[in-house]
Amino acid sequence: MTDIRGRFAPSPSGQMHLGNAWTALLAWLQIRSLGGAVVLRVEDLDPDRSRPEYTAQIISDLAWLGLDWDEGPDIGGPYGPYRQDERRHLYAAALDTLAARGLVYPCYCTRAEIRAAASAPHAGDADAESAYPGTCRKRVGEGGFSGDRRPALRLIVPAETVAFTDGLHGPVAQNLTAACGDFIVRRADGVHAYQLAVVVDDAAMRITHVLRGDDLLASTPRQLYLYSLLGLTPPAFAHVPLLVSPDGHRLSKRQQDLALAALKERGVAAPEIIGRLAHLAGLIPAPEPVRPRDLVAAFSLAKLPREPVVIENNLFT
Ligand code: GLU
Repeated sequence: MTDIRGRFAPSPSGQMHLGNAWTALLAWLQIRSLGGAVVLRVEDLDPDRSRPEYTAQIISDLAWLGLDWDEGPDIGGPYGPYRQDERRHLYAAALDTLAARGLVYPCYCTRAEIRAAASAPHAGDADAESAYPGTCRKRVGEGGFSGDRRPALRLIVPAETVAFTDGLHGPVAQNLTAACGDFIVRRADGVHAYQLAVVVDDAAMRITHVLRGDDLLASTPRQLYLYSLLGLTPPAFAHVPLLVSPDGHRLSKRQQDLALAALKERGVAAPEIIGRLAHLAGLIPAPEPVRPRDLVAAFSLAKLPREPVVIENNLFT
């Protein structure tokens, strides 16, 4: 047994679709090819978007695909120990640590105010448009905000560049101030932010390898900064390109025909889906039906595509 550990971290905010199966398959293959353990963590932090029926569906879809795990919720529930909803005390404790060091402040800005401030002249380069300009940081010590809005909590970030080497993208560097500014660690409604929860959980679950979609590449420097503040060891990261529709848009949970449940309903077999995905990943020469465990020996990050992968509309017809 090695100490290699990876994870599936699905958000139960919709049905699992082909794009989720793609990242889940590749994450599973990476860990199995290294002889490591797979953890399943349900990222159901957001009560407005998460639904238990999606959790149950994702768990049964993963099992149907032949993607197993060694720790985490069991098939069919009651969803075991790794549900973020049950781990809020851990995120609160990490937040307390940061707050005790004066690294966190309340922010009363609305989205519209942030947009207005960020697009003001001299706000910085194009990247800075989405970066928080620090409005409420300047208010700290002035007695706070007198209105009745509930504040979000933001983490103070330094004007520093965070750099790391991604398993697919190679060297990545991001200036936190320019890219995001002080970022939210707890929302105004009291829900801890993804950035904080994912770091606390990946560290607590001793995750050594994270493979996920490259829509999250820009979040990784924020997470690395949190790792350093909390004195935690970060995993190795690999961000894989997303599956996109022919018009270039990423597949979304709204595309019902690419939901695994819909494919299953149409009689598409799991090995057929795995074979298609493995072929798109460059792991097998033809899209023949195959089981995940038959691909373990063929897996290597070096074979994976670097550009978005186009899914034709008639892939399974
Ligand atoms: N829960 C996130 C998602 O479903 C994944 C987070 C991660 O892999 O860090 O998009």
